[in-house]
Amino acid sequence: MIRVESAAEMKARGEAWRAAGRTIGLVPTMGALHDGHLSLVRESRRRADVTVVSVFVNPAQFGPGEDYERYPRDPERDAALLAAEGADALFLPPAAEIYPPGYRTWVEVEGLQDRLCGGRRPGHFRGVCTVVLRLFRIIRPDLAVFGWKDAQQFLILDRMVRDLELGVAMVPAPIVREPDGLAMSSRNAYLSPEERRAARVVPASLDAAREMLAAGERDPGRIVGRVRALIEAEPLARVDYVEAVDPRDLEPLARIEAGALLAAAVFIGRTRLIDNVRFSTDE
Ligand code: AMP
Repeated sequence: MIRVESAAEMKARGEAWRAAGRTIGLVPTMGALHDGHLSLVRESRRRADVTVVSVFVNPAQFGPGEDYERYPRDPERDAALLAAEGADALFLPPAAEIYPPGYRTWVEVEGLQDRLCGGRRPGHFRGVCTVVLRLFRIIRPDLAVFGWKDAQQFLILDRMVRDLELGVAMVPAPIVREPDGLAMSSRNAYLSPEERRAARVVPASLDAAREMLAAGERDPGRIVGRVRALIEAEPLARVDYVEAVDPRDLEPLARIEAGALLAAAVFIGRTRLIDNVRFSTDE
């Protein structure tokens, strides 16, 4: 696995792969890698000849008072995991290569960027879209793999790719979970042992929603109400939002239909966790 720390070198490597007729898959990450990230690497390796993994803690997607400074960083461990997984390149750009002096151009996906997490983290998706577009221009991948854990992020980036005709195939990958159901996340490392136990309420509440759906419930108010009640019964948990939305516009649904997205953000202590379930009504 090669390790690339400059945008110019990354561009040149990409050009050489393309000239040799090799397809390129990109997996953008912020590092502190876990099995969720590695599942995306495997998906990219199945679909593309060359897999590039970027590790960049993107300052533009953190708001004031969020965890940019304390976000876990361990590039040596990340490099070892990626080499073992068979990634071809690790791209570790310095912030000044992504946002050089004088940088002023930002991507916004109107409407979608203001819903769910966007309403609580203003500017977050503007930062996400911009960094992904920058990575796409530097690496020029044929495809990019993103986790469904960040469903809103996937839907926004997919809209950006279609609106700007970027010609990158967007590949969603399923949520990878811990044995007790908690979605893997670099932020799980912030949880104390007690909080980690409490965090199980998040996937458990979504399971309860799935069961209600299987029993024929189609009223989003009752499903959301039950999920909220289960989370609120956990003393260390606080609901940020629970919503049942249409994945096309992320607007709340009047009735659960096939493809509906139930998304939740929950504070466990000071740590904000997200999770979701996509309903298929024939479950
Ligand atoms: P992050 O490093 O948190 O920015 O995540 C990088 C990529 O990994 C994003 O596409 C995430 O959606 C994806 N990802 C993070 N956690 C998981 C998970 N538990 N399962 C699947 N994909 C994940």
